Amino acid sequence: MDDVARAEDLRAHAVRTAGCTACALAETRAAVVVGAGAADAELMLVAEAPGFREELAGTPLAGAAAALVERLLGVHGIGLADVFVTSVVKCRPPGGRDPRAEEVAACEPHLFRQIELVRPLLVATLGTFATQLLTGRPDGITRVHGRPQEVTLGAHRLTVLPLYAPAAALYTSTMQRVLEEDVARIPALLDELRAGLPAAGGPAGVVEPAAAPDRDSDRESDRDLELDPEQALAPPPARAAEVVQLGLF
Ligand code: SF4
Repeated sequence: MDDVARAEDLRAHAVRTAGCTACALAETRAAVVVGAGAADAELMLVAEAPGFREELAGTPLAGAAAALVERLLGVHGIGLADVFVTSVVKCRPPGGRDPRAEEVAACEPHLFRQIELVRPLLVATLGTFATQLLTGRPDGITRVHGRPQEVTLGAHRLTVLPLYAPAAALYTSTMQRVLEEDVARIPALLDELRAGLPAAGGPAGVVEPAAAPDRDSDRESDRDLELDPEQALAPPPARAAEVVQLGLF
């Protein structure tokens, strides 16, 4: 698919998604925040869900969280314009609550279609929800941040890099430092992926397509995550050895 066709498909997908009523969030939202960015982005950021500011701005990252991400990526010469930014659910859960499992499941096809169309080399998941969904594993973000995992979505293989949610990192200096260190891994990872080097090794796992992440076990909210500072500062291993397969398309 050439870049023009890809951009048109993304626009058509965004128009369809903007009218989605597949879950209860359609009744309370003010707007659908579909996501946006470069249609040929090598890096995709996947946040959890739009909050009040994001809904108002119409973007999955807004305000201080967006500024933090922009600053951390900018250090490495990556602008937000080079990235595609989206979220696990596209409509704001009321009262700032977490998205429910059935809402995540209903919105899943929108995210997977975006990944299929953009075909990024690297997907950085921002927080526990996005990480659990895209790795198919129940691990909380504290355990897996900074560890790239190779995932197969249909016919497309990509690498997932779990990161702390920037909105949570804003208020915890330790977490912000870890986020900064994890983001610093992105340029080298992209170089390796462009060169066709595998980002992870080990046997492939299989995750059922409709497997909803376990929201109750090992759940650390991205908004009120409490960190063990030593755990937070522990450097991640040089490479992950996790390969999972999501038969989603
Ligand atoms: Fe549709 Fe997703 Fe919004 Fe639910 S959250 S109504 S599935 S776009």
